[in-house]
Amino acid sequence: RAEAALYGAKAEGRDGVRFHDPELHALLTARATMESELRDALNRDEMVLYYQPQMNAEGRIIGAEALVRWRHPRLGLLTPADFITLAEDTGLILPLGRWVLEAACEQLATWSTHEDSAHLAVSVNVSGRQIRHPEFVGQVLAILCRCGTNLSSLKLELTESVLMDETEHVIRNMDALKSIGVSFSLDDFGTGYSSLSYLNRLPLDELKIDRSFVRDILTDSHSAIIARTIVGLAHNLGLSVIAEGVESAEQRDLLAEYGCHSYQGYFLSPPLPAEQFEQLLLKSLSTTRRAPPD
Ligand code: C2E
Ligand code: MG
Ligand code: MG
Ligand code: MG
Repeated sequence: RAEAALYGAKAEGRDGVRFHDPELHALLTARATMESELRDALNRDEMVLYYQPQMNAEGRIIGAEALVRWRHPRLGLLTPADFITLAEDTGLILPLGRWVLEAACEQLATWSTHEDSAHLAVSVNVSGRQIRHPEFVGQVLAILCRCGTNLSSLKLELTESVLMDETEHVIRNMDALKSIGVSFSLDDFGTGYSSLSYLNRLPLDELKIDRSFVRDILTDSHSAIIARTIVGLAHNLGLSVIAEGVESAEQRDLLAEYGCHSYQGYFLSPPLPAEQFEQLLLKSLSTTRRAPPD
């Protein structure tokens, strides 16, 4: 525990900066407090999922990414940047990740009862410790069965860092989940260290273009080339492709020109509480229905 705290303190310090003892002490204390609060947060019902819509070229909502938030009693609404690293370092990511999966699947089951949204997929971020865990497959299966969620509506997002070690373990778990209909997206694609040969060995369905490339796509030719190359790579490997962090119509249009027709980002909508997402979903369904057939 103390080691984890020290590690965190080090990680937070800039290169070359040395903490004075009182500063280090304050940091370690804050971190220990945060850890025990995080431990209790699940039982206290302080975690909540926001949903960010994913749309296709026609502006139809095709899915949502579930993004966890922590309604902290003292600090207000915290985003994952404030607590996911802590959760991973302490192992709390396992109960937290399980809660996220369960909450997302329950929500998805509710939404799927709308006749028109039976196709809706929900993406859930899964950390390395989860996907490698021997009980993960059983856990997902149990949750899906209990919620009555359509098996093929769950998409799990992994980052390339997950593939750095114990790859055989990861692939075995992925294969098992894939065989029951769960699909996989490689998140933040292009920023990690994975070798391209992994792309063939993993049962992936989708590449998700990292938002850093999307952000600079109009101004930096390298980012544009990388984005276009990722789209081509996905197509050539028979995978679908989605762009994250789309903030303008111009970015969306250029991505479309490259052949990427699924988007997620502030241009469409920020992550929303479930009720607000549902309103947007219903609006999207009614406008799609009214549109003349083509
Ligand atoms: P991510 O999976 O890459 O999620 C996308 C992040 O980009 C989200 O941040 C989202 O709010 C933000 N975003 C979306 N559209 C835009 C945009 O147009 N512009 C900009 N600048 N940002 C945009 P968020 O919610 O703070 O999540 C951060 C990261 O935390 C996620 O990155 C994901 O890696 C992780 N995370 C979130 N929820 C979970 C979870 O339940 N489990 C695990 N293990 N990690 C999670
Ligand atoms: Mg993600
Ligand atoms: Mg991402
Ligand atoms: Mg990202």
